[in-house]
Amino acid sequence: MIEAWIREFARLVIEEAPRLTELDSAIGDADHGSNLSRGLTAVVAALDSTTFDDDTALLKKVGMVLVSTVGGASGPLYGTFFLRAAGALAGGFPAAFRAGVDGVAARGKSTTGEKTMLDALVPAAEALESGKSWPEVLAAAEAGRDATIPLVARKGRASYLGERSVGHLDPGATSSTLLVAAAASTLPPDA
Ligand code: ADP
Ligand code: MG
Repeated sequence: MIEAWIREFARLVIEEAPRLTELDSAIGDADHGSNLSRGLTAVVAALDSTTFDDDTALLKKVGMVLVSTVGGASGPLYGTFFLRAAGALAGGFPAAFRAGVDGVAARGKSTTGEKTMLDALVPAAEALESGKSWPEVLAAAEAGRDATIPLVARKGRASYLGERSVGHLDPGATSSTLLVAAAASTLPPDA
């Protein structure tokens, strides 16, 4: 099921890559879709060619492949998400997801309200931890993503724009909502 989650995330990112790049062209350097789809294509190739002992090993590999292929700000951040999630998977999916999100915040020295992927990931982690259903978890991520529109970017390239970053959806909050959407459609209700 963890493998199905990752494969679905890859499928969604590759499908949405032009849109992610378009969002990044407004407040960044127009590479978020191409960065992530390159990384997730490499992830799928790794899944196709490797047999993993368990889901922890699989998620570790996902993290390592993303760190080495994505680049930019989002490569190390998504890589950290999966490496930290791998380390906490024994405690269940909500704990693994939370560990991944905390890893992004630590690595990015970032928090919610700064117009980043955390604005979608943190509400999703909270909803998961409080036992919400997948549709509710996804709705929390989507609401967090959409709430980035009026925010001033405080982290990453978009922060160079200052007030001019207002009025745009954050690309990373959009891609991380795809991560939640992929989980919602592949993982069991009590994951
Ligand atoms: P780059 O900005 O290097 O071109 P990408 O375009 O792939 O990298 O990713 C940009 C996204 O990364 C942003 O939309 C934002 O969501 C996320 N991001 C950037 N810096 C941080 C950070 N410090 N913490 C959390 N997320 C961040
Ligand atoms: Mg970019």
